[in-house]
Amino acid sequence: MRSMTSRDAGHDPGQDARADLISYLDFHVEAGVDAALDEAPHDRFGEAEAAAPQPEPSPRRTPPPAPAPRAPAQARSEARDEPPADDPFRRELPSRDPPPREAPRTYGNAASAKPGEAADDARARAAQMESLDDLEALLRGFEGCGLRFTAKNLVFADGNPQARVMFVGEAPGADEDRIGKPFMGRSGQLLDRMMAAIGLDRTGAYIANIVPWRPPGNRNPTPQEVAICRPFIERQIELANPELLVCLGAPATQTLTGTKDGILKARGRFYPYRLSDGREIKALATLHPAYLLRQPVQKRLAWRDFRMLKAALDAGR
Ligand code: URA
Repeated sequence: MRSMTSRDAGHDPGQDARADLISYLDFHVEAGVDAALDEAPHDRFGEAEAAAPQPEPSPRRTPPPAPAPRAPAQARSEARDEPPADDPFRRELPSRDPPPREAPRTYGNAASAKPGEAADDARARAAQMESLDDLEALLRGFEGCGLRFTAKNLVFADGNPQARVMFVGEAPGADEDRIGKPFMGRSGQLLDRMMAAIGLDRTGAYIANIVPWRPPGNRNPTPQEVAICRPFIERQIELANPELLVCLGAPATQTLTGTKDGILKARGRFYPYRLSDGREIKALATLHPAYLLRQPVQKRLAWRDFRMLKAALDAGR
C-alpha cells in the first residue's frame, strides 16, 4: 500500500505539474532548443507578409519566398518569467512600407523579419556609426537578431580599442553572457596565456566576436545569425582600425576572410582583409582556444601562429 507523504498532504497536484513543466522547458532552453514547432508547418514569412499592408500589385513584384523550413520562434532565457511588457512576440509585425527616414527601422519581432532584410538593415545602420560607443549603443537597441532575446547581455568587446591587434572569436558562451565581455571563461583564460606568451595582455589587444550575443545552449550561430551580425563586426573592425586581425577558429576565419577551408588548413596564414575605405590589413587565422582545450596537442600549431603574429607586430613597429 502506498503511504501518504508530506508531498501528498494538502498538496496541489496542479502545482507539481506546473513545476515539472517549467523544469522541462528550462532543460530544453539550456540544451539549445530555441524554436517551438507545431505538428503542421507554418510559413512565418508568409504570415508576416499577409499581416503587413500590401502595396499596389506590380508586374515586377518578385514571388514570395519559399516556406520557411521551421518557425524560428525565439525562446527566452528566463523561461520562467512572465513575458515582460516589451515581449518581442507580442509586438506588431513589421510593415513592408519603407519607414520614414528619421525613424530607425527595428524588427520588434525578430522571428518575422527576413534574414536578408535584417542583414541589409544592419549594414545600412552600422555604416552610419562613427565611433565604437555609437556602434555599441546601436547594438544594444538592435532587435533584428533573435539571439538578443535569449541572451542575458550584449557582449561587445574587451581590451583596448586603440591596440594594434584585434582578436575575433565566434560567439559568447555562458560566462561571457553573464559578464557581458568576450573570452571570460576557460577559453578566455587560455587566450590570455597565449597572448602573454608573446608579451600581450588585454591592455595591448582588442577582443570581440563575430556574433555579440550568446546562442542558447552554446549551439553554433546559424548562417542567418552570422549574416545579420557580420556588418556590425566589420564596422567594429573599421572603427577600431587595428594593424592586424587574428581570427580565432573556423567561423571567424571563414566569415572574415571568405575562405572555405577548414581551420587546420587555413591556420598559420595571413589573409588580406579589406576595409571599406579601400585599405588592406592582414588577418591571421589560428586555432580557437576552446579547440585547444579539447586538443591540447595542437597547441604547438597555435604557438607557431602566435610567433608569426609576434613577428608581424615587431616588423610593423
Ligand atoms: N568563445 C568565443 O568564440 N568567444 C567568446 O567570447 C568566448 C568563447
